[in-house]
Formats: sequence, C-alpha cells, structure tokens
Amino acid sequence: MSDKTFGFETLSIHAGAAPDPATGARALPIYQTTAYVFEDADHAAALFNLQTVGFIYSRLTNPTNAALEARLATLEGGRGCTVASSGHAAQVLALFPLMSPGAEIVASSRLYGGSLQQMRNTYPKFGWTAKIVDADETENFKRAVTEHTKAFFIESLANPGGVVSDIEAIARIAEASGVPLLVDNTLATPYLCKPIDYGATLIVHSTTKFLSGTGTSMGGAVVDSGKFDWSRGGKFPSLAGPEPAYHGLNFYETFGDMAYTFHSHAVGLRDLGPSQAPFNAWLTMLGIETLGLRMERHCANAAKVAAHLEKHPAVAWVNYAGLPSNKYNKLAKKYLPKGAGSIFTFGVKGGYEVGVKVVDGVELFSHLANIGDAKSLIIHPASTTHRQLSDEQRVAAGAGPDVLRLSIGIETVDDIIADLDQALAKATA
Ligand SMILES: *Cc1c(COP(=O)(O)O)cnc(C)c1O
Repeated sequence: MSDKTFGFETLSIHAGAAPDPATGARALPIYQTTAYVFEDADHAAALFNLQTVGFIYSRLTNPTNAALEARLATLEGGRGCTVASSGHAAQVLALFPLMSPGAEIVASSRLYGGSLQQMRNTYPKFGWTAKIVDADETENFKRAVTEHTKAFFIESLANPGGVVSDIEAIARIAEASGVPLLVDNTLATPYLCKPIDYGATLIVHSTTKFLSGTGTSMGGAVVDSGKFDWSRGGKFPSLAGPEPAYHGLNFYETFGDMAYTFHSHAVGLRDLGPSQAPFNAWLTMLGIETLGLRMERHCANAAKVAAHLEKHPAVAWVNYAGLPSNKYNKLAKKYLPKGAGSIFTFGVKGGYEVGVKVVDGVELFSHLANIGDAKSLIIHPASTTHRQLSDEQRVAAGAGPDVLRLSIGIETVDDIIADLDQALAKATA
C-alpha cells in the first residue's frame, strides 16, 4: 500500500497490516514466538552483522510489533518506529542513543508527573541531567542550553494541565541549538496533532492510553522523523560515530534516515530490553483501527463536559484548552484544530477535602490512575499521581490541592454530566 494517497482513517486501519503472506489471514497474526529459524549459517551471520534485515529474537524485533511500528510511523508522518513495553520505557529508549554521563536535556515543567519523576530522580543515576523549564516562555529553552545539551523534551498537550506547547517555536530553538526536539504526543495522538509537521524530530507515546484505547495494554513507542542530521556538531557519537557494540559500525553512514530506528532496535532494545509483548502490540493495532472515531467522540464529549463545569456553582475554574476562555485556546486552534483532547482539569471550591469527596462520590466514572480509556476516568492528582512532588512542584505541574483530572470517555455525554453533577452535589452538601 502506498501510504501517501490515503486519509488518516484509512491508514489507521490498513497501514502496516496487509494480509498475511504465508496464510492469507486478513487479521494481523500474533507472532507469539521468541526466535526465528535462520536459512543457513551465512544468513545468520548477515543478520547479526546488520547486513540483512530480518528477525532474530523477539527482544529486538517481532513481526506483530513491526506492524504496529509501521502503522505508528505512518500515522505520525515519520520514517521509523520502535515500540517498547510502556511509555516510560519508550522515553528511556528514545533518549538512550543521544545521551551519555554528563549529558543534559531541557524539559518542560508541565510534563506528566511520572515523566518529571523519571527525569528528576532516575536520570541522574545514569549521569543524565534534566533542566526543567517553564515552556510557556519558549526562550527558556534557549537560556538553558549548554554545550552538553542533547535534546529538548515537551508534551504537545500536557497531562494533566491542559497546556498546549508552542511546538513550532520550540522546534526552531532546538534546530538553532543543534539538538533534536522530542515530543510526547500521548494526549493528542496523531489524529489531533502531528508534531513532525512543526519541526519535531522524535515522537514518544504511551500507547497505553488513546492508541490502545480501552485500558487493556501497556505499551510505548518512539517514532523518528528521519530528518535529523546525527553527524551535526559531533554531538551524537552513538549514532554517527563508530559503535563498539557492532565492530565500529557507523549507523548514520550505513542506514541514513533509518539510523536512529535501527540503533533503537539493535542496541537500545537489545541491551536495555524493554520489548513490547506481541499480544499488546496486537491489541494496540486493534485499538488504532477506531482511533479517529474515538477521538472525535472523546473531544466532542469533553467540550460539552468542560462547558457545563465552567458554569457549575461548585466549580472554581476549568482548564480545558478547547474553551474559548482558556489561556491556551489560541495554541490549541493552531496545533489541535480537530479538538483539544479529552483530558482536562478543574478546581473544586473547598480544595483538597472536596476534591477527595468527589472522587469517592462518582458512580459512572472510575477513580483510577489512567487516561485515554473508552470509559470516563477521574483522579485527584495531589493525593495520587503527583503525591511524590513537593507542594510547589505540584502547583507548577498543574496539580494543586483543589485539582481534579478527568479523562472523558465515549459514553453518552448526558450520563457523564449527570454523574459529575451528583458527585459534586454530594461533596458540597
Ligand atoms: C501515561 C503517560 C506516560 C507514561 O506511559 P506508561 O505507558 O504509563 O509508562 C508518559 N507520558 C504521558 C503524557 C502519559 O500520559
């Protein structure tokens, strides 16, 4: 299938998944195998030398995972993709080829709490430093750059604050600084936003969320645009220098715009090992078939719920970039023209106490730590996901004591609104 001529919904169903050439099976087979038989000793040697492309061992590559990789690369407009066991595994995998002890990244303070945690507390154990900056002021990225900076990291639409990043402005600063821009596109999905169109180099996903879509499967992905010159400035020796793990092979000279993706499989997955289970890749492929339909309904429902809450007497404020009153509405119109997603926060009058009562009072909503499910979900970040942060860090991440985060599902919208109304009534009675 030549992808260029088809629309998003068509590609969501067909990209990466032609009928199985061996059996004619129309649905993607789950290749539940650990290893693959070599044709002969020469074939085996060529595979291990990366002189021929093929399957060796499912820690590196697997045909079901490869189908998901092809589909995600297509939907994001990228060149190659590597799937991983979770979104967080994908983030480590994404940075791994770029980093070494002493290397730095510049990241937005508005990232998902778990990502901030990973950057602040775990990356230092690798000798990596994350400088966390307020991304609303895009010049902060320029100010934080040093000779050790290897990447910028932002979210297109941030979890949970409803913050939209000015991807194009930050990409320009990355380009001028000679570093790639990594964009976590989990909340927007490629249906709502394609960061590569605005200059992003690498896209990371937690496929756990909207891409799989039904809260069944952990997974992550890294998509490479194939557009970055890894030999620039001698900053990325793992990609554009002799790789000791492959007898001095230079990935960029050998594989060109597929260098990053080949490295992610041949070195990243091989040595770090966070491979995705083929069954999860299969469920995620199934989910992606309905991505466009689901996102349309997620966004329509979220817009109605946000507008309702904005007028609700028990609600102090609503942070949904799709609302005309929102600070990020202009950026949302530019980067998310089809809708501002379905994750947003609102503040209850009465703070922490009332927030906790609301999560205890909902009946249709599920109180849990996930987003992007067909089911509507609620959480009080201050007492859960953002618990490990300091008070100041929580407020900076949009997770203060009065904040509730919603992930609006695709149920009948009147039922969603009625459930919130009864929970708010109980909590404030
Ligand atoms: C959930 C999430 C992650 C982490 O993904 P896991 O699949 O849970 O490891 C990273 N970024 C964002 C924006 C997320 O919502």
